[in-house]
Parts: sequence; C-alpha cells; structure tokens
Amino acid sequence: MSVPAPLPPGTVLGIVGGGQLGRMSAIAAARLGYRAHILTDEPDGPAAQVVHAVTIGAYDDPDALRRFAMAVDVVTFEFENVSADGLELLAALRPVRPSGHILRISQDRVAEKRFLTEAGIQVAPWREIRTLDDLSSASTELGLPFILKTTRLGYDGKGQSRIHRDEDMQAAFDSLAPHPLVAEGMVDFACEVSVMVARGLDGTAVTFDVTENRHRNGILDLSLAPARVPETVRDDARAIALRIATALELVGLLGVEMFIDRDGQVLVNEIAPRPHNSGHWTMDACPVDQFAMHVRAVAGLPLPPAVRHSDAVMKNLVGPDDMALWPAILATPGLLPHHYGKTEARPGRKMGHVNVLFPPGALPGEFGVDAALGPLAEDGGKPA
Ligand code: AMP
Repeated sequence: MSVPAPLPPGTVLGIVGGGQLGRMSAIAAARLGYRAHILTDEPDGPAAQVVHAVTIGAYDDPDALRRFAMAVDVVTFEFENVSADGLELLAALRPVRPSGHILRISQDRVAEKRFLTEAGIQVAPWREIRTLDDLSSASTELGLPFILKTTRLGYDGKGQSRIHRDEDMQAAFDSLAPHPLVAEGMVDFACEVSVMVARGLDGTAVTFDVTENRHRNGILDLSLAPARVPETVRDDARAIALRIATALELVGLLGVEMFIDRDGQVLVNEIAPRPHNSGHWTMDACPVDQFAMHVRAVAGLPLPPAVRHSDAVMKNLVGPDDMALWPAILATPGLLPHHYGKTEARPGRKMGHVNVLFPPGALPGEFGVDAALGPLAEDGGKPA
C-alpha cells in the first residue's frame, strides 16, 4: 500500500473545535507552514483568535460541516463530540485523521472498554447498565463502593457518581444521562498517569514520556514528567499506548489515561484521540511538542523521536482564583505561562497553564515542586 505524500506548506489544516487545544494546534501548524481553519460555534474563542480562517456553525449542522470541509485539505479534531452523521459527511469530502471509527470508540465508554478488552488491554472491572436490575447485579459483582458513569459526553469528572451504599443507586441512576451507563469497580490506584502517542501515515509511532497526573475537584491540576513510578511500569505504560495506537490504526495523536494500581499493574481508564491537557508540559520540555507531533502526523510528515530535554511540571490555571495570580505569574522567573485568550474566568474553567522546567533527572519532590510554583504553590508561596 502506498503512503500518501506529505502535505506541502500552505496546505489548509481543518480543525473541528475552537478551544485551547485548537489554538495550540493552530500555532504549531503555522510553525510548519500550514494554515489552520477551524469549525467552531465561538466566533471569539481561543482558537478563532489565532487561525487563518473560521467557519462558524454547530458541529451537527450539515451545511456548516460541508462548507468547512470544502475549505480545507485535511480534517482533524480538538474536540471529540461530533455526531456519527457529521463524521460521515466530513469523511466523504476530505481525509479525516484520526479516522471517524476512533472517535466513535472514544465517544462511548462501552465501545471503548469493549475495544480495549478485545485488544487484550487491562481495564477496571465494568458492567454496562441499562436498568436498575443491572445496577443491583453490578453492586454485588463489583462490590461497594463503585463508580457509575455516563457512556457519552463526560469530561473533567462530570457525568459520574460514586455509589457508597445500595440506597444511593436509584438517585444516581436517575440523575445521570444519557443512558445506558457504565458501572466501574473502584481502582485503589497508587497514581494516575497518561501517555501521549503519535502515529504517522506510514505506521511509525512514538510515545512521549509517561506523565503523572493529579486532579483537584475532578479537574486536572498538576502533571509531572517523568512520572515517579518504576521504570518497568513506565515501559509497560508506553507499550500499552503503542499497542492501542496500532490496534486502532491511528493516524494522529492520542492520549491514554491510565491508573497504576498498588501492585504496579497498568489499567487503562480512557483514550482521547487528540492533544491532551496532560501533554501540555511537552510545549516547553520537548524539542517537538505534542501539538507539533499532532500536526506532523495529520499532515503525513515524518515523526521525530518524542524526546524530552528537561523534567517538567505543568500546573493548570483554573477559574478566577488562578487568573487573579496572572500578574504574579508573569513576574516570577522560571514560570512559563500559556494563556488561552478566554475573556471570562468562570469557576472550573481552564484558562491557561504554566510549565516549570528542571534539568533532566532533577524533578523535585513535593516541597520542591511547590517552591518552584511560587505564587501557584498550595500555600500561595508564603514562607513557612
Ligand atoms: P474519568 O471521567 O473516567 O476520566 O474519571 C475522572 C477521575 O475519576 C479519574 O481521573 C479518577 O481520578 C477517578 N476515577 C475514574 N474511574 C475510576 C475508577 N474506576 N477507580 C478509581 N477512580 C476512578
């Protein structure tokens, strides 16, 4: 099978979605000589502010999707929730990378868990829940506590509920939508990690270093690279990401979120076929970051090794409280700020992030990380 030629500079890269991932992908595309054209419903969103052209429209509007596709040379995503019909329409008009079947799997937790299980990848024990009876059986089989999740449209910990007692089941079942739901056994994890994997048109695949992730209120708060887990666990995590990319015949970038349990076993939680918040540290710690790797894969360019020249910590800037620190962040040497251009800092909204670099091998422990974060430290950077 012959591999399509790389897209030449000047080609228009179509990105579905107008958020920060689209913004950072568009900037990476521009560095490689491409023009980014986004489909978004936000005329002044993070991506719209930096791209070559914008189609304004809903992601399920056939007319907007058609106009967008006709104006671009290749289509990719920063956002996964495009309808099956929308994907079909796009794929009929332009190459779509990653392809629609990968999005369909990642959009649906049941399809995702089936795919992973069939690919021989370990996941937390799970049951598909269609009725309250299914839920009572799940409670017996998985044991309390367990987690009930929506199968679609969940993000940042939204669309899930922890069931501690059988009496909690009815309310959770009624409040989570749409059905069916997924019940998942609780993993007593030692830490959460992720791996970004890119795969090119010729099947070459690369993985970035394993990232350790910490959440706060269900939202990613800190990412540390490399993850502080034994090297064998890191190797396993990278190998799993590569296996998933190959099994999906991925062309593009994919984030794989994983749990490391107390025995050092790697369980995959979910996959996202796009740049990922937990890969933002690569922007300052890698010669070729996740966004450049994404654009290269989608454009059919060669994929260089996903090497890292520094250890790194990424801290998300969430809501008005973190943004109040923006002037202090700018005034602190060593903090590398990234602003998403959002005008309104609502609580829980990701507004930007900050990277901090350390020499390779010098990622500090908790106190050192806190000290390096200055005004963003847990204690606000005050001396003890
Ligand atoms: P998710 O929406 O699946 O990404 O889940 C959001 C967060 O909830 C994860 O990052 C974990 O911190 C936690 N979580 C999700 N599933 C499980 C599980 N099966 N066991 C323990 N914690 C979980």
